[in-house]
Amino acid sequence: MQPDIADKPDAYPLPEIIGQVRFEAVSFEYESSLPVLHDVSLTARPGQVVALVGPSGAGKTTLVNLIPRFYDVTEGAILLDGRDIRDIQLKSLRRQISIVLQDVFLFHGTVRENVLFGRPDAREDDLVEATKIANAYEFITRLPHGFDTLIGERGVKLSGGQKQRLAIARAVLKDAPILILDEATSSVDTETEMLIQQALERLMVGRTTIIIAHRLSTVRNADLIVVLEGSRIVEQGTHAQLMALGGVYSRLSEVQMRLNARQT
Ligand code: ADP
Repeated sequence: MQPDIADKPDAYPLPEIIGQVRFEAVSFEYESSLPVLHDVSLTARPGQVVALVGPSGAGKTTLVNLIPRFYDVTEGAILLDGRDIRDIQLKSLRRQISIVLQDVFLFHGTVRENVLFGRPDAREDDLVEATKIANAYEFITRLPHGFDTLIGERGVKLSGGQKQRLAIARAVLKDAPILILDEATSSVDTETEMLIQQALERLMVGRTTIIIAHRLSTVRNADLIVVLEGSRIVEQGTHAQLMALGGVYSRLSEVQMRLNARQT
């Protein structure tokens, strides 16, 4: 995180938001004169799913990390419901955003404490409900002490798929209008993958979702696909629009389809 990220003296808390996220000519560099994002503009309307695609190193992770202000833009602005996010109190901004990444952050504590991290004052039945929505309830009840099982460092070791479902439960409980997802590429078995996918679909309902997408079906069903390459957006539109365009996306998509056909 940039050390200089802090509230401006006149920063204000957000009122209830509807969840429109807009990048206006955003450029960003970690080190001066090494642009990682260049002139990026996009709009995620409330409740939409925006899929980010592009080769590794294109800037997808960097782009999503700018929304909760882990870093501040170098040029341009990011607007939440039309407000520059730098004018909003950091705590208030981050309360509106849930993040589910591949590399899940769990601390040493019980399963209950780890899920409640999403909303510390949640009631027990809301906690249980959240873990059911996240397809985590079953495995939690099979742990040696259920919700009171110690996990994280020195605790019971959870599988990658289990950790992810706890992160999803946390996000369900937090119930923020903006969701940032990094779709897993790590190897989990087919059944676990289905459980995670189903949990994510439930989580996404009614939220503005920006997803670093790897699954063809996620990309295809997105309201907006943003193709990043070499620090720029090279194409954006729906699957149908980008296929009709006959550019980078349509070529990638065709290669992907041929690979899939060969595997099955
Ligand atoms: P993607 O998610 O598309 O793979 P990233 O946003 O992770 O792309 O990375 C984009 C570029 O920014 C890469 O060249 C990467 O090396 C660089 N980068 C990522 N994080 C940092 C950082 N903390 N400091 C300096 N450079 C970084």
